[in-house]
Amino acid sequence: MPSADLIITAPHMYTMAGKGLGYLADQAMAVTDGKIRDLGPAGDIENRFTPKRKINAPHHLLLPGFIDAHMHMVDALMRGLAQDTRNWMMHGIGPFQMGMDETGDLLGVKLAVAEGIAAGTTCFGEFSDYNPEIMAFLDRSGVRSPVTIRIREAEEKIYGPGELYEFNPEKGSRSLSACLDAFDRWHGRGDGRISVFFGPQGPDFVSRDMLRKVQRLAKERHTRIHMHVQQGDRETEQTMKRYGKRPIAFLDELGVLDKDLLAVHLTDAREDEAALVAARGASMILCSGSIGIIDGIVPPARAFLEAGGTVALGSDQAPGNNSHNMFNEMKLTALFNKIRYEDPEVMPAWQVLKMATIDGARALGLDNRIGSLEPGKQADFIVVDLTRPSMAPVITAPMRNLVPNLVYSARGHEVSLVCVNGNILYENGEYTTFDLPQILGASERYASDLGIRGAERFRDINGCNADMMRKGLL
Ligand SMILES: [Zn+2]
Repeated sequence: MPSADLIITAPHMYTMAGKGLGYLADQAMAVTDGKIRDLGPAGDIENRFTPKRKINAPHHLLLPGFIDAHMHMVDALMRGLAQDTRNWMMHGIGPFQMGMDETGDLLGVKLAVAEGIAAGTTCFGEFSDYNPEIMAFLDRSGVRSPVTIRIREAEEKIYGPGELYEFNPEKGSRSLSACLDAFDRWHGRGDGRISVFFGPQGPDFVSRDMLRKVQRLAKERHTRIHMHVQQGDRETEQTMKRYGKRPIAFLDELGVLDKDLLAVHLTDAREDEAALVAARGASMILCSGSIGIIDGIVPPARAFLEAGGTVALGSDQAPGNNSHNMFNEMKLTALFNKIRYEDPEVMPAWQVLKMATIDGARALGLDNRIGSLEPGKQADFIVVDLTRPSMAPVITAPMRNLVPNLVYSARGHEVSLVCVNGNILYENGEYTTFDLPQILGASERYASDLGIRGAERFRDINGCNADMMRKGLL
């Protein structure tokens, strides 16, 4: 009898394969060499494979791991320092970001990975500057991570209202070289868990020539461009001034809107512009929590979907969300869109669950490897404990309440096991690949210093909630 590294049985499974959500009852899954070898009735699978390890999950739900398609985990140590303000960049994150360095970036990634894993995230779509230590940590920690390396030509400084960003070609080529270097060193590492995408920060932050160059280099390497697109009125103002066009019209003229583009946010896009991006074959990453808190806006994902586009979800960053938790993201996405359109039928639970799994994989170009539980795919899956009060009661026949409960009731602590590439990374509250107390301790120390370092700047610019802070009321 062939052996399997793992056989796991559960009374409920959503494979996310096929037209619906692929619900199966009383099934088992056999895992070998990091891949799903087979799925089938529990008795059948147990008779066909000799497992090295067998997990019986008797009152659990098994489903693919969540895909968080857009994150700036490097910002995680600034969690809670930048909310409830109209000028997030300046009055929120600005005073503290100037105090961050590579040590803080790496710690932030560690903290965010710990948070995400415990809430069922298996794929972490980080977007940041190239830092080999971060890449090494992501590899070591066992997670799946398509990392986008930021490419930027605009000088980093505080610009006045309406002031055109100053491009520095030398800075642009330095960041492009770093991206190419990261691609050569890391793309495909960790049995394919680590990949590298190209990340022009936005159409306002790089020149037209740079965009053309990035597109050519990404296509030569068969990788994707992951870029903020129309992420705010500031971006629109910049491209109007520079090119006389709104960002999406400008990108369309350049030919950048195509199937290899991951367009993040579309915060300031009109519905017809979102539909155009979808029609060109690009995917959208929707960061509902972040854009809700930072901008008070619900991006036009509904129009994107209606135009036939694929929408993935992203948690963005902790200083403006404030969590890396896909349960949170699914719920906020469903709620915000129902509220925006004053229609409870918009974005049903099943649709946002697809965005967090198979549609997220499709957007990232990874749907041949992850996003659903099917033989031949990588074994990236999570197990949810249905005996937690937030998941009770379980109703399965003739009605089934599992998906609405996952999206609207669960908070993340219901996740009892997380597996990536066949390796268990988290089981019953314990991490298998890193030392959480050490990460938490170092994060606390760093963030306390950061708060002290940024306080003066924060007071100078009269940052968010400054009055309440000054009076000791907060
Ligand atoms: Zn972003």
